[in-house]
Amino acid sequence: MFNITEHQYNIIMQQAQSCYPQETGGILGGRDNTILGVLPISNKVAQDRTEVFGLTTEDIERAYHFLVKHDLQYLGVYHTHPKGTPIPSAQDLSHNQKFLFIVGLQNRYNPEFYGWRVQDGRVYAENIKIISDFGVTVINIMTGQPQLAQSTSPQEIDRLAQMIDDLIAGQELAYEKKGPISWDASSFSTFA
Ligand SMILES: [Zn+2]
Repeated sequence: MFNITEHQYNIIMQQAQSCYPQETGGILGGRDNTILGVLPISNKVAQDRTEVFGLTTEDIERAYHFLVKHDLQYLGVYHTHPKGTPIPSAQDLSHNQKFLFIVGLQNRYNPEFYGWRVQDGRVYAENIKIISDFGVTVINIMTGQPQLAQSTSPQEIDRLAQMIDDLIAGQELAYEKKGPISWDASSFSTFA
């Protein structure tokens, strides 16, 4: 089971709506099965973005630095299914990820957010519980500082990825470029 704070849940849902009908997604980090960090990633695939969400190697390196900076464990990739249910596709399962997080927008304004654990070729649903930000330290990914819960506008979501880019671009690479994530694609990982 996973917990997600209201704040992080809202970031994902607002991103999902602002990118609709294209697929979008990002990386989730956390501690002890609680999702505390969301790194939205813009979809850069050349294919039909209503069908496919893709991450570049660069995105994955950026995610790694984001996780290290905030002392978060890598939990997995999340992405949206704008037209469908939050069930992993064969392509989603091909990445050998331990967990998959999918937002189903078949009913756009009543989104479904599911976590899946992939083990020995089988898929198991993981409950995701939305918890109040009260009593939980929520990290503002723009400043790296803890903050109180607040709503994030769609415009802010759009600015978010750029600000994270800038944040990381201005930093010394203090860590070896060795990702915690094992990807089977050499330069591009796509989720359908
Ligand atoms: Zn998918």
